[in-house]
Amino acid sequence: MTTGPVPKPTPETLPFWESTRARAMSIQHCLDCGAAIFYPRSYCPKCTSSDLEWRPVSGRATLASYVINRRPLPVFEVEQQIIALVNLEEGVRMMTNIVGVEPVPTALQLGMALELDYDERGDQVLPVFRPALKESE
Ligand SMILES: [Zn+2]
Repeated sequence: MTTGPVPKPTPETLPFWESTRARAMSIQHCLDCGAAIFYPRSYCPKCTSSDLEWRPVSGRATLASYVINRRPLPVFEVEQQIIALVNLEEGVRMMTNIVGVEPVPTALQLGMALELDYDERGDQVLPVFRPALKESE
């Protein structure tokens, strides 16, 4: 549990925040062209269909890029924060925080395997990612 700014759900993002609160993060999929869609919206950005369905993600992702924020806003309890773009296995990119790893470049390899976790913040639950455990561990 951390403190800090909490995103305000809109009608389009409310199902997303409900899914993270249930710890089953879901994104939209287009029923016409099959595209995975993030961020939430009312129609498919590829084919403009409004025939969309929410489906839980696998939770697997890879690290696409990151910045280490050494001076987060004072409202954050944490001293340092890794702000990252991750590629979900579903094929969409999401801005998130990386947790469970030292905020140093040597610990963060682009393309490294990540897995979904959740961080309670106020009355929301934010999706965060941590390094994936190896199969053998
Ligand atoms: Zn579509």
